[in-house]
Amino acid sequence: MELQEKFRVAANAVSRAEAIVVTAGAGMGVDSGLPDFRGDAGFWKAYPPYQKLGITFIGAANPDHFERDPAFGWGFYGHRTNLYRNTVPHAGFGILRGWIERFGLDYFVVTSNVDGQFQKAGFVEDRILEVHGSIHHLQCAKPCTMAIWENRETIPVDEATMRAGRIPRCIRCGDVARPNILMFGDYGWVSDRSARQQRVFDEFLTENRGRRLVVVEMGAGTAIPTIRYLTEEIGSRPGALAVRINPREAQIRAPHLSLPCGAREGVAAIDAVLAEDALS
Ligand SMILES: [Zn+2]
Repeated sequence: MELQEKFRVAANAVSRAEAIVVTAGAGMGVDSGLPDFRGDAGFWKAYPPYQKLGITFIGAANPDHFERDPAFGWGFYGHRTNLYRNTVPHAGFGILRGWIERFGLDYFVVTSNVDGQFQKAGFVEDRILEVHGSIHHLQCAKPCTMAIWENRETIPVDEATMRAGRIPRCIRCGDVARPNILMFGDYGWVSDRSARQQRVFDEFLTENRGRRLVVVEMGAGTAIPTIRYLTEEIGSRPGALAVRINPREAQIRAPHLSLPCGAREGVAAIDAVLAEDALS
């Protein structure tokens, strides 16, 4: 099938759908100007100081830093917190919201990103599952409590050393707090918030059983394939169609649609077909 024909089939599925599941991986943020930490080279391009220190993404995204050297741990996460706070979600987010409104779709967002960009783009908090947690929420680093609270801290970071000038503290014990994110080799992540979101998502899937469902996946790579599996699993339900938008790894088996393009480009192309149909 030619690409333009696939956009047409996807547009038809969206316009006929009763519900949409939006699934997203790191590639979703690229069009908003966010780094996706693809390989060591990609990570060091985004964070040159770590290259000098010989630290990879896996090395930086390690919960041990909060115990051994919290200013270093918060250097990485504080910098990212500030970056995500200052990022404007790209036009693709608004296009997806437009479909939800225009076609009266029930919806759910499932993302492996911790950047809070769907909330920022106006998606409702209780329609989002953040499978790896959120950088905009904190927990105790020990943890002394299962409490999870919103990150309202200002965290200045020296970009030459990647060290934080301020360390967020636990609301209960006063010791170091950390982002409520699943890191590498992480046994201290408090998963309660993501687990609660998962239960709401399961209810959504139950309520929408047998209904016409479209799954639109963007920027979910094969390295950590959780999101891709989920897309395929939901896509295999009766009445469902999955659309995989990915510039490098778009492959998915028929009848599902493989769109080898960026997130913004892919949804914009589907939207262009919908706009033409509305005019004709
Ligand atoms: Zn504590």
